[in-house]
Amino acid sequence: VPELPEVETIKEELYPLVINKMIIKTKIFRKDTIGYPSVWEFQKSLRNISILDLKRRGKYLIFLLSNNLNLVVHLRLSGQLRYYPILPTKPEKFERVRFYFKNNGGIVFIEPRALGKLYLITNGQFPNELKGLKELGLEPLDRDFNYHYLYNKIHHRQAQIKSLLLDQKICAGVGNIYSDEALFLARIHPKSRAHKLTLEEIKRLTRTLKFVLKKALSLKGSSVRDYVRPDGKAGHYHLNAYVYNREGKACVVCKNKIEVLRFGNRRSRFCPNCQTLKE
Ligand SMILES: [Zn+2]
Repeated sequence: VPELPEVETIKEELYPLVINKMIIKTKIFRKDTIGYPSVWEFQKSLRNISILDLKRRGKYLIFLLSNNLNLVVHLRLSGQLRYYPILPTKPEKFERVRFYFKNNGGIVFIEPRALGKLYLITNGQFPNELKGLKELGLEPLDRDFNYHYLYNKIHHRQAQIKSLLLDQKICAGVGNIYSDEALFLARIHPKSRAHKLTLEEIKRLTRTLKFVLKKALSLKGSSVRDYVRPDGKAGHYHLNAYVYNREGKACVVCKNKIEVLRFGNRRSRFCPNCQTLKE
C-alpha cells in the first residue's frame, strides 16, 4: 500500500484541487524526503510556478509544472498527500514537506515511516534515483496488458509467481494486496513457479488482475495501514477483500481457513484448498 488503485484515487481527487494552482514556496521538515536534486535546488526551483497537469505511472504521481520540471511523488508504504483549502498553522504529525499555494491553500506530504520521497526532475530525464520509474512495465489496466504480454514476461522464469507480480518491470502498480487477491481468484498458489503455469492459468491471472484493480478503483482503494485520500477519507476495498488481511478466516469459496506465507519481508494470504501449488 498504496498500490495502483490508491495512487490513482489520490490523482483523481487531487486533480481538480491543484490544476492551475501556483506553488509560491515549499517548507521541508525532513531533508532526506527529497530524493533528487539537493534540498536547496528543490526549494529554489519550486517558487512561483504553476501546476499544469497531474499524472500517475505505476505507484508514482507526477506533477507537470510550468517551468518544464516534473515533481515526482513516491508514497512507498505509508506516504499521504493531503490537500488543505487553508493550511494548518502548525505542522501535522509526520509532516515532511509542505507546498504553499497562492491564496492560502496547499498540499502537505505526510509520511510516518519516512520512506516515501519527492523528486524534481526535468521533463523526461530520469536520474539514477528514479530508475524504478523509468523501467516500469505495463500496468494491468493498460489495453496492451493481455495474456500474451504476461506470458512473454513470465513463462521462462523459475521464480515464484507472487514475486513476479510484485515486480514493477512486469506489473506496474501491483503490490501485496492486489497480487494476493488476483492469485486467489485465478486459483493459483502464490509460491507456484512461473514456468509451471499453463497458458490457461496465465489467461485467468490476466483477467483477475484487471478485475481486482477495477473493483478497487471503484471502491477508492484499501485503507489498510496509513492510506487515506487527499481529504482524509478512507477507501473501502479492504472491507470486502477475498484473502487480504483475512488469515484465519473462512475462504469465501470453500470455507477452509485462509493461511499466510512469508515472502521475504512481505506476507501473502491464500486459501490452501482453492489455490494449488505448482513447484
Ligand atoms: Zn478456498
